[in-house]
Amino acid sequence: MQFRDYGKTGLRPSALGFGAMRLPKREDGTCDYDVSVPMLVKGLDLGITYIDSAWGYINGTSEVAVGRAIQGRDRGDLIISTKIPIRDIRGKEWRERLEIQLQRFDTPYIDIMHMHNLHWSQFEANGLGEGGCLEAARQAQQEGLIRYLAFSSHDTPENVVRLIETGEFDGVTLQYNLLDRSMEDPIRAAHARGLGVTVMGPVGGGRMAMWSPQQAQELWPDTIRSAPDLAIRWVLSNPEVSVALSGMNGLEMIDENVASAAHAEPLNAEENAAVQAMLGRLQSFANLYCTGCDYCMPCPNDVDIPGNFLLMNFHRVYGMTDYARANYAKLANGEKVNVRGHRTIEGLVASECIQCGECEPKCPQNIQIIDQLEEVAATLG
Ligand code: SF4
Ligand code: SF4
Repeated sequence: MQFRDYGKTGLRPSALGFGAMRLPKREDGTCDYDVSVPMLVKGLDLGITYIDSAWGYINGTSEVAVGRAIQGRDRGDLIISTKIPIRDIRGKEWRERLEIQLQRFDTPYIDIMHMHNLHWSQFEANGLGEGGCLEAARQAQQEGLIRYLAFSSHDTPENVVRLIETGEFDGVTLQYNLLDRSMEDPIRAAHARGLGVTVMGPVGGGRMAMWSPQQAQELWPDTIRSAPDLAIRWVLSNPEVSVALSGMNGLEMIDENVASAAHAEPLNAEENAAVQAMLGRLQSFANLYCTGCDYCMPCPNDVDIPGNFLLMNFHRVYGMTDYARANYAKLANGEKVNVRGHRTIEGLVASECIQCGECEPKCPQNIQIIDQLEEVAATLG
């Protein structure tokens, strides 16, 4: 595990942080402690020292799970990060929540307390002024109940920089990944001002998951094990990042992410080339961002529009051209095609489109369906 400076605080968290928002749940929506606590313990045993939770995660039970996992450990070795949203509260309610959180964690103090999903307007309305949340946070700091104050945000990059420049915060948690670099300027600004920088969503949510097929991995050098591996290492290649959070919910995932975060060196030239190839493919996917919503259906000529686009994306995004062509041929033969995990494609192939134009105005993604079907027919037919 590598350890990095968290701004000017003197904290040295593990570069991989355990995001406790996706811990396994029971049917009633609360955390399944029997499964979650051993997972957190395993993460700690493998060298993770930064755990991130929040007031609202898993109906408040994420914080309880973290509390159970840290019992018996040297508290000084751990960095507990959590959050309180200030959208509709002032300092009095903020303090009440903090006290509940300390009970949930069963710990005397929080290391990094965030204002959760903070917007500039909320900071002005509920953070500042007499009786505001900032005043309550300063009071809690004086009492030793929280050590450092941070914020997380999905506000505009300009407003995030404004929040950073108030000088009130020691750290910031922002979304940043291969597919979304919009917070690059705020990350630079935060680092320059000595704030710790935690990255949430390093793997880019579901959109990176599509890179799991074996065929996609053939695009990468052997040094990259998977899309999450590449994604975490890409985030940590930025020296301005202190911690990459991963919302881990499986034992295998913890092993894999810990191994990814062990690479102290940035991506090499070959690995960066793989990143570029991946981004190029994703760009072409963006041109045909069919969500499969079916709003364009039914086609009066019985063309399965989203089905044809799905096959096209297997070619464009995954590089699974043979698979896409074979299934297009099946469809052309009048057979149904069952794409596991996606949909059953039935109807006519793209080349049967008579260009009546009925479908195009119905597409919320503004896909040029006629042109794209022509391309599908030319490529897969
Ligand atoms: S333009 Fe083609 S795909 Fe669209 S409704 Fe007409 S025949 Fe069907
Ligand atoms: S309406 Fe557009 S996005 Fe929806 S299935 Fe049809 S082509 Fe795809």
